[in-house]
Amino acid sequence: MEKYISNDFVNEVNRLIDSTNRIVITSHKNPDGDAVGSGLALYNYLKNKGKDARFILPDLMPQNLKWLPGVDEIVTYKTQTEEADKIIADAELLIMADFNSPTRMGDAVKSFDASAAKRVLIDHHPFPEIRTDVAYSRPEASSTSELVYELLTELEGTDVLDTTVATCIFTGIMTDTGCFNYNSSSPNVFRIIACLLESKIEKDQIIDHVFNHFSETRLRLLGFSLYKKMKVIPKYQTAYIWLTKKELEDFNNQQGDTEGLVNYPLTIDGINFSALFTEKDGLTKCSFRSRGSFPANKVAAERFSGGGHLNAAGGEFHKTIGKTIYYFEKVLPEYEQYLEK
Ligand code: 5GP
Ligand code: MN
Repeated sequence: MEKYISNDFVNEVNRLIDSTNRIVITSHKNPDGDAVGSGLALYNYLKNKGKDARFILPDLMPQNLKWLPGVDEIVTYKTQTEEADKIIADAELLIMADFNSPTRMGDAVKSFDASAAKRVLIDHHPFPEIRTDVAYSRPEASSTSELVYELLTELEGTDVLDTTVATCIFTGIMTDTGCFNYNSSSPNVFRIIACLLESKIEKDQIIDHVFNHFSETRLRLLGFSLYKKMKVIPKYQTAYIWLTKKELEDFNNQQGDTEGLVNYPLTIDGINFSALFTEKDGLTKCSFRSRGSFPANKVAAERFSGGGHLNAAGGEFHKTIGKTIYYFEKVLPEYEQYLEK
């Protein structure tokens, strides 16, 4: 196994965990499998150690992750604000996982910023811009869950991987790599997976839980989006899907239902950039995916107050969805230089 994590980081986190009891873990809004998996791996580990750990998510999590070990004890800032504020105010240590910017914490950011607790960051997004006391950021990693694996096994050896911790880490790595489709060319990822399999995780059951238990309306929304709401712009090797608030409501859209939708346009031959625009109250949420060297994160950062990885990024636009797609099409030609020749 390659070693990337520094001894200084491991020793400092060890010292912080040893010297505190009330530890709060948090991750990003619109949480995905890596946000929930890495957070719950840390949560289960700290609980096993006898710590008074809590895991606070800014908003609701997707249905298909609600079976993960420890999920019932997650506190959701959006719906349990008072309780969450109290937990944050009492925290002695904050561990932030899988995000690189305070904007990703949603409304919870104020309470976290007011806390005097030491802050640890563990993340794989490039260009972290978040105040921390100690950080482990490795953008080349498959997922934050991979980094959590490194941290926990450095702290305690592979004995730390009981079935609950191993299941959470596996879920995070598996979802963030699209089932080992991308960001997983490093042999290290598979060495970690081998180790997780030795910890007696139910691999097939985990994959079934994550991918085969969606609602009927989610699948119909996918069909509708591809049939009626996808625009293909061959000249710019781009395709995008846009969904209004009304359409999302018509399909009884639940948190996480549009997750993964943005990947579909990229499966068209000749398309190297895809976008998904979903209308929310007062803003339009934007998701971007690209292939090769087209910088999705550059478009997100320069035009949509966002950021992310080269091939997977996102942001938001404080205008109606109509104005958002108009703007998107208008700025697209400025990125022509990054398209495949
Ligand atoms: P998704 O499209 O799955 O919501 O997000 C893909 C990636 O884009 C995330 O892992 C994150 O790096 C980035 N991202 C998504 N939304 C935002 C946003 O609003 N701000 C920033 N800075 N990054 C985002
Ligand atoms: Mn991630």
